Amino acid sequence: MNKPPTVMQVLKGRCCDHAESMSYEIDGRLSWPARLLLRIHRYSCIGCRAYYRSLLAIRAAARAIGGRGAEVGAGVKTGMPEDAKARIAAKLREPR
Ligand SMILES: [Zn+2]
Repeated sequence: MNKPPTVMQVLKGRCCDHAESMSYEIDGRLSWPARLLLRIHRYSCIGCRAYYRSLLAIRAAARAIGGRGAEVGAGVKTGMPEDAKARIAAKLREPR
């Protein structure tokens, strides 16, 4: 999916479709009606709830080790080679 799903796509989606929608939600790229439908679905779906929590944990970990966008990896001693940090930062800056 190249752009955020519409409300109807979220409404008709299966759990495997919601995984990508939740990623858009976390990135702030999902419309509020679609977010609402996803939240309603998560309320009744333990699998999607667990997946969403894991996405939040991954985001928190990524922020903890280096922030977002151009700040990724800056000044953080992770043991990761500098060229690898630069490649990851460049990928994160690419338009979606
Ligand atoms: Zn689900």
